[in-house]
Amino acid sequence: MDLSVSLKSKVALVTGSTSGIGLAIARTLASNGADVAVNGFASPDEAADIVASIEEDTGRRARHFPHDLTAMAEAGALVADVTSAFGRVDILVNNAGIQHVAAIDKFPDEQWHKIIAVNLTAAFATTRAVWPQMKDRAWGRIVNTASTLAFEAETRKSAYVASKHGILGLTREVALEGAAIGITCNAICPGLVLTPLLKKQVEAKAEALNISFEDAARKLVEADAPTRRFVDPTEIAAGVLFLCSEVAKSITGIALPIDGGIMVTGTRLV
Ligand code: NAD
Repeated sequence: MDLSVSLKSKVALVTGSTSGIGLAIARTLASNGADVAVNGFASPDEAADIVASIEEDTGRRARHFPHDLTAMAEAGALVADVTSAFGRVDILVNNAGIQHVAAIDKFPDEQWHKIIAVNLTAAFATTRAVWPQMKDRAWGRIVNTASTLAFEAETRKSAYVASKHGILGLTREVALEGAAIGITCNAICPGLVLTPLLKKQVEAKAEALNISFEDAARKLVEADAPTRRFVDPTEIAAGVLFLCSEVAKSITGIALPIDGGIMVTGTRLV
C-alpha cells in the first residue's frame, strides 16, 4: 500500500479558515496537493492576502468564499458556489466555530442560537449539500472540528458544550450513513490552541485576575494541559490531513483528541 499522502486533484472546502486552526488546515491541505476554498470573515484585503499566500506557498488554487454560516441557507449556498468555482468538493472540513462565555441564567438567546447555528447546524447543512456529489464519486472525506468539550463540560459554556457534543453525534451519524458509499466522517478534538477564539478567554481571565496576558495564558495551560503547552494549529492540521488521506479510508466515526493529554486527566492539574 502507498503510504504517502497526496491530495492532488482533490478540492477541499474548509469553513472558518481565515484564521487560527482553519487557516492552518487550509494551508496544510494545499501543501499536500489540494485546491482549497477558504471561508470565514475577513476584509477584502485580508482575504486577498490569505489566498495569495496559500497560492504562492503551495502552487495550488485558492479562493475566498465569504458566506456567513449563521444562516443555514448560506451553508448550502457555500457548497454550491465552491462546486461551481472548482468543479467539485472532495473534502469538507467543518471548522467554523464561535464561543460565548456566560452563566446559564445570563446566557442571551441570541448567543445560544448563533453558536448552535455556526458550530452545529452549518456542519449539517454543508454535509447535506455535498453528499450527492460525494456519493456519485463514491469518495468523500468529512472532518468536523469538535473539541475536548465534546466529551466534558466547562462552566459558563452551555451553548458551546452543547454544540460540540452535538457535532460528535452528527459525526457518528454521517459516518454510519457514509460507510458503505466511500464517505468517511471523523471529528478532531483540539485542546488549547492559542487562536483569536481562545485569546479572548485568556484576556478575560487576565482582566479578572488583574494579571498579564502571558501569566493568564501560563496559568491556563498549567492547570489544564499535561504537556504544559498550547497545541500549535499545525498539529491539528496534521491530524486532519491524515484523516483525509487514502490510507485513512477505514477510519470513520472517530473523535481524535489532539489536546496535549487533557482528556486523559479528566480533572484540573493544579
Ligand atoms: P478562530 O476564531 O481563530 O477562527 C474561527 C474561524 O471561524 C474564523 O475564520 C472566523 O472568521 C470563522 N467564523 C466565525 N463565525 C463564522 C460564521 N458565522 N460564518 C463563517 N465563518 C465564521 O478560532 P479557532 O480557535 O481557530 O477555532 C476553529 C475551530 O476550532 C472552532 O470550531 C473551535 O470551536 C474549535 N476549537 C478551538 C479550540 C482552541 O483552543 N482554539 C479548542 C477546541 C476547539
